[in-house]
Amino acid sequence: MIEHNLAAIEERIRAAAIESGRDPDEIRLIAVSKTVPAERVREAVQAGAHTLGENYIQETREKVEALKETPASWHFIGHLQTNKAKYVVRFADLIHSVDRIKLAAELDKQANKLGKIQPILIQVNVSGEATKSGTAPEDLRELLQEASQLPNISIQGFMTLPPFFDDPKRARPYFRRLAELRDEMAALNIENISVKELSMGMTGDFEAAIAEGATMVRIGTAIFGARA
Ligand SMILES: *Cc1c(COP(=O)(O)O)cnc(C)c1O
Repeated sequence: MIEHNLAAIEERIRAAAIESGRDPDEIRLIAVSKTVPAERVREAVQAGAHTLGENYIQETREKVEALKETPASWHFIGHLQTNKAKYVVRFADLIHSVDRIKLAAELDKQANKLGKIQPILIQVNVSGEATKSGTAPEDLRELLQEASQLPNISIQGFMTLPPFFDDPKRARPYFRRLAELRDEMAALNIENISVKELSMGMTGDFEAAIAEGATMVRIGTAIFGARA
């Protein structure tokens, strides 16, 4: 089942890329495995989904331990409290949800202790919804300038979550805005940062996100089924 779902999603990613004149190899699938038991995550890894996205620290630590003999790579995509930064830097190959300088500074400090450079994305609240995490677009430049001074984090790009719409086409302006912000930030040529990656698009709207330039799509339900 997982293998079949994964193949279908990979095909849809390819088709969406080609449809918008993009190279399918530019788009990475993050298989979102929050709440999915380790043995089912193992199935996904065996079927070729090597990059997993997780939201909860304790749950992820258990899965990382259970799957440590596999090629799994772990991305943290959930809201992150500053006092949990020390746990995340131990397993995360990329953190998608950094949205404030205090958190960036704590990740830098904890990564330094491990002798690691921690890759991160900056989460942007493009829609301005009060319920969403993410830095406001107008604060992005200052956050990047401050975070670029931190030697043990490495900024790779941006992540966003648009509002939910039944019609995914309506999410496209939010994805487009993140791509525009990326271009505006790239034009500032801030030292020590790369703004290449755009993590956007989930089960319901990833094709719209790919049309607007997503380089990473975060897909859970379409691979593992509905969460409890
Ligand atoms: C759960 C989650 C996803 C995956 O959502 P699906 O609709 O199941 O594909 C993607 N991104 C984030 C930040 C999530 O929390």
